[in-house]
Amino acid sequence: MDHHSCDCFETQWPADDILIKYQYISDFFISIAYFSIPLELIYFVQKSSYFPYRWVVMQFGAFIVLCGATHFINLWTFSSHSRTVAVVMTVAKLSTAFVSCITALMLVHIIPDLLSVKKRELFLRKRAEDLDKEMGLIIKQEEAGRHVRMLTHEIRSTLDRDTILKTTMIELGRILDLEECALWMPSRRGCLVLELCYCLHNLIPFGSTVDMNLSEVSRVLSSQDALRIHGLCQLARVRSAVGAYRQPEAVAVRVPLLHLSNFEMDDWSDRAVDSYAIMVLVLPVNGVRKWRDHELELVEVVADQVAVALSHAAILEESMRARDQLMEQNIALELAKQEAEMAIHARNDFLCVMNHEMRTPMHAVIALASLLLETELTPEQRAMVETVLRSSNLLAALINDVLDLSRLEDGSLHLENDVFDLHGLFSEVIRLINPIACVKKVSMTLNCDMDLPACGFGDEKRLMQTILNVAGNAVKFTKEGHVSVEASVLSSEFVGEWRTPEFCPTLADGLFYLLVQVKDSGSGITQQEIPHIFSKFSDSQNGSIRNNGAGLGLAICKRFVNLMGGHIWVESEGLGKGTTVTFLVKLGHCNSPNDPTRHGSGELITHRYLSSQDYKATASFPRYQKGF
Ligand code: ADP
Repeated sequence: MDHHSCDCFETQWPADDILIKYQYISDFFISIAYFSIPLELIYFVQKSSYFPYRWVVMQFGAFIVLCGATHFINLWTFSSHSRTVAVVMTVAKLSTAFVSCITALMLVHIIPDLLSVKKRELFLRKRAEDLDKEMGLIIKQEEAGRHVRMLTHEIRSTLDRDTILKTTMIELGRILDLEECALWMPSRRGCLVLELCYCLHNLIPFGSTVDMNLSEVSRVLSSQDALRIHGLCQLARVRSAVGAYRQPEAVAVRVPLLHLSNFEMDDWSDRAVDSYAIMVLVLPVNGVRKWRDHELELVEVVADQVAVALSHAAILEESMRARDQLMEQNIALELAKQEAEMAIHARNDFLCVMNHEMRTPMHAVIALASLLLETELTPEQRAMVETVLRSSNLLAALINDVLDLSRLEDGSLHLENDVFDLHGLFSEVIRLINPIACVKKVSMTLNCDMDLPACGFGDEKRLMQTILNVAGNAVKFTKEGHVSVEASVLSSEFVGEWRTPEFCPTLADGLFYLLVQVKDSGSGITQQEIPHIFSKFSDSQNGSIRNNGAGLGLAICKRFVNLMGGHIWVESEGLGKGTTVTFLVKLGHCNSPNDPTRHGSGELITHRYLSSQDYKATASFPRYQKGF
């Protein structure tokens, strides 16, 4: 602008004292402020451990100090001043200009950096907010977990279905602050309807039913998750206090109803569960609260827990029912057992009486028939009397067998142990059977081993009955040829060799096993018959018409042998190839017969002891004259 050509050129302003004074004071304070700022900056840079752009700050500090210096020097320029002041002022201004330009240039680089720091800060703040939210979620989940644990504990503390369901609903209602909680169960009348069974606050009319085919209902039934359902769905139609229906925020979840049969399968997948209940949970109708995801998760977990608790209850119910049934059965069985025992007693009493009453006339018939045979008779009469005698003998044997068997079966028959002449016993058997063998022209041999003790301790009568039965059978089923009876002692070192699946021989001190083998060359037995031969009435069972026996003898022998701690078995090559019957019995050692004080073993002494007198009185054997 050309000052000289312009008319509006401002007149020279004379130095005004007041203005000058104010400018002077201002410059002083500006310089003080300018000097203090770098001091503050230096102080804080020093204090902080990390300070980015330290050199920029230094530059900035220099810039401010120089600005302050120009203002400060300015104090001397208001009045006339020396050239030195002017030079200093010029240097200061030049330095200020230089430093300020460099600082401005540097700021161009720094500002974007500073801005990105701001961005990072914003990003970090957002992250922090997100983390806070996540923490909140975790806390909520923990809270939900705590609630589930509490609920599970409550639910499982009982095994009664009703209590489980009621507790669940009360606890859910409390924890989730529900307006209503209801349980719909499949109807017992028809499988396509759900009936309202439990309702926490009775806001859904009791006895309401819902069709299972409703789309909302089948949607819930077909999903494992807790689903938000429409407020107007029949499942969640709650009444308000005034009676009008409202539209609440509701969820529904299915609860599998497991029965005992479900656990018998290897896996109980969805297919295995035949029915579901539906649990409906309704929030208060104030429009504020909505179902949140973690609440839905809680509901699902609780529904699972209820299913497990219900299944436990079902098992318990089933086992209680089974226990009751068993108890009833036990009572019935006990009654039946008592009745059977009474019947057995009655039968045995009857048999004893009959046996006693029949034996006397039978013996009379046998004796008289025998006497009659010694008189002069025509051949026809003799044949008839012989038949009478045979039949009477048979009947007498049968009467005794039936009594023995019934006593053996009810356990009332005990062995009568005493010392007896072992060799004498075998001789007696041969003496009794030989006449019949002679008549049949069957040769008989007795072979007693050298080691066989002279006497033994045991039940002579039962042992003799056994040998007679076995040897008698041999003679009876042999038309021609021979029958041999062999007796020996089973050497203790070979005892183990006689072990079979059903017999495990063991010997205590003072005992020995008597081994008796009766071989014949008679009719033999088929392999099919052998397993049945020791069953009572085996003869009639097999439908055999080969003999006229009752099939009791060997059944009784087996029981006697078992009572004597032994075993009996039969071998045969087949029909017509002879039979071998072998048995082992345990007897006590003794040194001489007729010494009742010498008892071979404690094992046998436990049976009822008979004095030798008693024994002799009972040791007559009319019954063994079986019908050969
Ligand atoms: P039973 O009173 O009929 O003789 P057992 O119990 O003594 O009854 O015998 C049962 C059946 O075993 C006999 O009917 C017979 O068929 C068969 N049996 C027994 N011993 C022999 C044998 N030594 N030879 C052939 N069959 C025999």
